[in-house]
Amino acid sequence: MNDTPLAERQARLQQRILAAVHAAGRRPEDVHLLAVSKHQPVDSLRALYTLGQRHFGENYVQEALAKQQELSDLSELVWHFIGPLQRNKTAWVAEHFSWVHSLDRLILAQRLSDQRGEDLPPLQVCLQVNISAEASKSGCSVAALPELAAAVAALPRLQLRGLMALPAPGDDDAFRRLAAAQAELVHCGHALDTLSMGMSDDLEAAIAAGANWVRIGSALFGPRKA
Ligand SMILES: *Cc1c(COP(=O)(O)O)cnc(C)c1O
Repeated sequence: MNDTPLAERQARLQQRILAAVHAAGRRPEDVHLLAVSKHQPVDSLRALYTLGQRHFGENYVQEALAKQQELSDLSELVWHFIGPLQRNKTAWVAEHFSWVHSLDRLILAQRLSDQRGEDLPPLQVCLQVNISAEASKSGCSVAALPELAAAVAALPRLQLRGLMALPAPGDDDAFRRLAAAQAELVHCGHALDTLSMGMSDDLEAAIAAGANWVRIGSALFGPRKA
């Protein structure tokens, strides 16, 4: 695979992120790029790592574990789980990821905490919020957040860092609402510092509303093959 286009896409994306950060009057160190590598070949991940990218997001446990084995020599690579979390896969996620952005139920949080190895640092988690209240989407409701956040924050092997969302297309106000929901939790005493929001098509709006992680797939790797 020719990695010149990848380097160019990465450079262009970093320019885009920086321009959005400046336009929002924010600090570059407060906005991080998560490379969403689902369905991308390991060679592309390796090439990006060589270009300096350290944080990668995967949606499917099986696919991620195979990639982790192939890339186990990349000692600074940090894996984030961002996909639908299934009960029978929590042990894998607890053992093989540093972050989970897609936590939306207490039963899953309890399992992750129970299954997180004692030799590992606490699993860093964001609660996924169904911010556009779509019937088909995962994520907890804004109304259910205070109770879920309190229960998750009490689990010993998880560290609650913030909120994540995938807004419905056209819901232009969603990022602001997610930021407001986070502010509400902070007001209630939670020490949160992470809003995971914004993808290839809407990262500027997400950064303007306070995003700390933008999760970028196609703008970085090009269109997905599958
Ligand atoms: C695929 C995916 C992304 C990246 O989407 P792009 O539009 O390709 O940037 C971000 N977040 C989640 C949860 C995803 O599944």
